[in-house]
Order: sequence, then structure tokens, then C-alpha cells
Amino acid sequence: MPTPLLACDPRYLRRLSAVLGLYALIAGVISLGGWAFDIPRLTDWLNDGVSIQPNTAVLIALAGAAVVFLQYGYGKFTLVFGGIVAAFGGLNLLQYITGADLGFNHQLLFGREWGQAATVTPGRFGPPASISFVFIGISLMLLGMRDHTARRYVPGLALVVLLLMMFSLLGYLFNARNFYAIPWLSAIALPSATMLLALAVSVIISMPDHQPMLLLCERSSAGTMARTVLPILVVMIPLVIWLRSKGYEYELFDVGTGRALSAALLVLGVVGLMWIALLALRRREQREREADRRKDEFLATLAHELRNPLAPISNATSILKLAHDDREVFERATGTIERQLAHLVRLVDDLLDMSRISRGKLELRREHIELASVIHQAVETCRPMAEAAGQEITVTLPAQPIYLDADPVRLSQVVSNLLNNASKFAGQRGRINLTVSLRDRDVEITVKDDGIGIPPAMLNAIFEMFLQVDQSLERSQSGLGIGLTLARRLVELHNGHIEALSEGLGKGSEFVVRLPVTIDQTAPIKAVDAVNGSSPKGRILIVDDNLDSAQSLAEVLKMTGNDTFVAHDGEEAVEAAERQRPDVILLDIGLPRLNGFDACRRIRANPWAENILIIALTGWGQEEDRRKSAEAGFDGHLVKPVDMAELMKLLAGLPLRSN
Ligand code: ADP
Repeated sequence: MPTPLLACDPRYLRRLSAVLGLYALIAGVISLGGWAFDIPRLTDWLNDGVSIQPNTAVLIALAGAAVVFLQYGYGKFTLVFGGIVAAFGGLNLLQYITGADLGFNHQLLFGREWGQAATVTPGRFGPPASISFVFIGISLMLLGMRDHTARRYVPGLALVVLLLMMFSLLGYLFNARNFYAIPWLSAIALPSATMLLALAVSVIISMPDHQPMLLLCERSSAGTMARTVLPILVVMIPLVIWLRSKGYEYELFDVGTGRALSAALLVLGVVGLMWIALLALRRREQREREADRRKDEFLATLAHELRNPLAPISNATSILKLAHDDREVFERATGTIERQLAHLVRLVDDLLDMSRISRGKLELRREHIELASVIHQAVETCRPMAEAAGQEITVTLPAQPIYLDADPVRLSQVVSNLLNNASKFAGQRGRINLTVSLRDRDVEITVKDDGIGIPPAMLNAIFEMFLQVDQSLERSQSGLGIGLTLARRLVELHNGHIEALSEGLGKGSEFVVRLPVTIDQTAPIKAVDAVNGSSPKGRILIVDDNLDSAQSLAEVLKMTGNDTFVAHDGEEAVEAAERQRPDVILLDIGLPRLNGFDACRRIRANPWAENILIIALTGWGQEEDRRKSAEAGFDGHLVKPVDMAELMKLLAGLPLRSN
């Protein structure tokens, strides 16, 4: 179900449906009690002789129970109860059509003689209730069956009941006896009409993925209008006419005045509602245009930012071709490629994280960590950039270690985002200070620079998505304007707080992250894994339909002492695995002929493949993708471009065959 599109919480709808079902159940039982204990008013609310018949009460109670069962996951009961309701509704209808008496109407009357003002024969409920029971009963059966294709007709059936009951209730509201008291045509008691209405609504709202709920729940202008304008209209029109009839009754005005007044009220009401709806529509359109404009701007920045690292990479590859044996030139060029690639990877990672933020899918993998190791990792990531700009990073840590329950990768990402910014905006030979200190039950991480500073008016705004202080073409710094948005979200997920301080332009900036220290500081903790430089040796099968990708990875792994084999599609991968019996398979997911999931399943099905380490190597890195690869039998999931250190770590955990 497309939940993010829904304005209505499905849990709330389920509860509401159950409450309406419960109303039908309780009211049905009470009505039956009226017959059993001879209390007519429990069955005839208006005291006009039209009572809810006892078998109607039983069927309504059964249908109400069926709805409650449905919402609490006992679909089988819903199916059975729905079947009984539909069957009796149908049999009763048959009696009207054929004129026969099947003899099941009078058993529950307890000998009472009242309440038959609108019945053809004592105890027989009218045609509107009969049709409603057939439709509600069938709907409940279909709902109880869950996956039946005819489920899509359920809201339609319930809508027919809703309209029938609205007709009867309007008859009661305006005292139009023909609408509810002709025995062979329209007869229905007021209690029955309200309960059947409740049942119809409970059925309709239990299908939020179908019309009319789909529109009513949609997060769109149409949905907002449907939710606000329609209910008001439904109440307003009968209300105006009712007020007019009351006016006549109390002789407040004559017929002409009454008509003119009600017409004026209706025109005012409808035009007013339309106006409000149109204004809301207009506001929404304006917001969408603004969002579109921001997105366009962002795409332009993105294209620019992605292009930036490509130029030096392309230059460096040209240099490599010409470098021959000049070691120094060679190292400079590969250094450039490495740095720019890291930059590209960070951009793409940030983009993915941004999409996770907007879909509310950013999650933490918390563990017990020691803060200093996270800080060191972040500093190491930023050091090359700072060194290139001749900047100095000073790190001050408290003497005692600080333990946190946090996601080390995400926390390191926050700190390196702040350090990166500090380095970007500190200028040549700037100074960057990172300080960690304990304050009560909080730990405070401060990143301070002596760079261009931030105008006071922007101190809050810079945490917004895509926002950059300097958006001119002349701005000297690159970036997408999402780093701080990400940092804030990540800190908040850790129940922490981040703020920016600056005395103004040219006066440097300070970013303060405060995180709660929730765990026992003496508990043993897991250190953040250091990257193990030594690489294991083994037989590795690399499967990728991108020939360059496969070939280059094979080359690197061969250089670190492994035997490597390459395959380019899923079928080939299965055959190569069978032939080569590798220790490790690095398997792409999107592959021709046979996709990576299926290839992995086929390989895993063999007894010889039990101990092979199969690692997914793919462009898809969302939680959902990781879950799917684990289901298919992968041992690990790496996102392209593969981080060599991470790959080595995975390989290191493996008892390789020595051959
Ligand atoms: P990006 O750095 O990609 O532009 P961020 O979200 O990380 O995006 O930062 C948003 C903006 O906040 C930056 O463009 C910059 O204007 C401002 N900013 C962030 N950190 C600093 C800093 N240390 N000094 C001055 N300005 C900063």
C-alpha cells in the first residue's frame, strides 16, 4: 500500500472501522434485549411503531462482530459471519420477490405484538435492510478472504448501502414516511438505518487502497478538498432545508421567505466553500512551483558538482599515459584520481542519504562505541584536504574515554562533514580546532574555524536542504548544500542537538554538536574496527556486466595476491562458480540473462557452495536492497564503487583455502 501518499494513518482507519463495527454489535445486542425484555423504546427510538426487528438486530450484531474480527486479524470469522448475514438477507429478499414465506421471521419475537407498523408480516425486515444485508454480507466475505480479486467491488457494494441508508435517514429527518415506512418497499426502522450506515462506513474505510478512500486519503489538493469540502456539503444541504422546515413549524417566516433564505444560505455556503478550496489549491500550486524551482537549481548545481571532479580525473589519466617511468608524476596523478574519486563517492552518498531523509528512511545502526576512535576516523578523512590547503587541524580530547550508544559510521559522517566545511571555508593556512568535552550527561563536540564566518541571519537557515550562503556564480566553494541538513538529521536521530555560532562575516564559525551519554561508562565496548592493511589470499570470482569494472577489480585483487576469474552475466557466473570453485564471489545484482539474486540462489543450492563467501557488489545500497540480498543468500553487501578497505575487511573474516 502506498502509505507515504496517505494523509490518513492506516492504523487509525482500522481503529475507526473497529469502533463502528463495535457500535453495530452493541446496538444490535441492546435492540434484541428490547424484544427479550419487552422494552419497545430500545427498538423504536421515535416511538412511532416502526421497530428494528429482532432478526435484523441479530444480523447487524453479527456483521458488527465480523468487522471487529476483521480489524483484529481474524478474517475467518469475518468470512463466516459475512456469509450468514448475506444468506439471510438474500432469503428475506427472496420472500419479497416470490411472495413465499420461508418461516424464519417470527421466532425471536418473544410473543411481543408491538413494533410492526411497517412490516408485511410480523418480524420480517424490509427490502432496504434485505439488500443491505446481502451487500454488506458479501463485502465482509470478500474482506475475510483477503486476496480475492473481487475485493475491488467491496467499496461499491458498501456505497450502495450508504446511499440507501442516507435516503431513509433523510426520510426520518424530514418526516417523509414514504421514505421509511412502506412495508413492501421502503420499510426500515431508525435504529437499523443508523447501524447499517455505520457498517457501510466501516467497510468502506477498511479499504484505504481503493476508491473512495484513495482520494479521501490522498496527500494532494484533490484529497484535501475531498476531505474538507465533501463532508461539509453533505451536512450543510440537509441542515439548511431542515432549518427552513423548522422555521415554518414555529411560524418564524412565510413560505416565500423560507425559500429565499435557504437559497441564499446555500449559495453563500457553496460559494464560500469553493472559494476556500480554490485558495488552498492556489497556495499548493505556489508551493509546488517554488519546490520545482529549488529542485531545478539543485539539479544545475549537482551537474556542476559532479562534473568538477571529472576534469582532474580525466587529466590525471592522460598524465598516467605519458608518465612512463616517472614515479613522482605517477604518484601525483594517482593521488589526484584517488582524492577526486573519494569526492565523487561522497557526493553520491550524500545524494542517496538526502533521498532517504525525504522519504523518512534514514536509520541508525547503533552499537556501543568509544567516541575518540570515531573522531580520529573523521579527522583522517579530512586531513588530506586540510593539508592541501596548508591548514592545521588541532584535536583536543578529554583524558578519559567516552562511550556512546551510537552509529559509528553516521557519527563519523557528521564530524567529517563539519570538518570538511571548516576546511572549505577556513581559507589557506586557516586553523581548525576540534574539541570534545563532557558536560553533565552530554558530550559536546565543537568544530571551530577562523574562516569566512556566517552572517547572523543565516545561522539557522544553513541547516536547510540546498541552502548555501553564497549562491553566486563567483562562489569559490563547491558543495550541494545538503551536508548540514544531513548532519542535523543524523544528530537528531541520536537524540542530540547541533547549532552554528558565528560573530559574523570574516569572524570564523563554530559548530557545536551535543549528544546524550546514555550508557554506563565502565561497560566493555566494541572498538571501531581499524582497517586491516594485510589482504588475505584466495580464489575470487568477479561478476559484473561492466567489462571495465570487472577487469579493473580483478586486476587490483590479483595485485594483492589473489587468483581471480571474471564472468559477465548470471548464467556465466553459475558456470564459472561450478568450474572454478572459488572462495569468494563478488556478484553484481543487475546482470543480463540471470540476475544476481537468482544466480546467488542457484550457486548456493549446490553442496560445494556452502562455504563460499558471496558478496553483492551493486549500485543499490538501500536497506531494502540489503534485506533482499541477505534473503537471496549473500553473505555481504557492498555498494559500488567498492571501498577496498571494506572489501579487505570482509575478506579477512574468511577462512580461506590454501591452494
Ligand atoms: P555545502 O557545504 O555543500 O554548501 P552544507 O549544508 O554543508 O552544504 O553547508 C551549507 C552552507 O553553510 C554552506 O554553503 C556555507 O554557506 C555555510 N557553511 C557551512 N559551514 C561553514 C563554515 N564552517 N564556515 C562558513 N560557512 C559555512
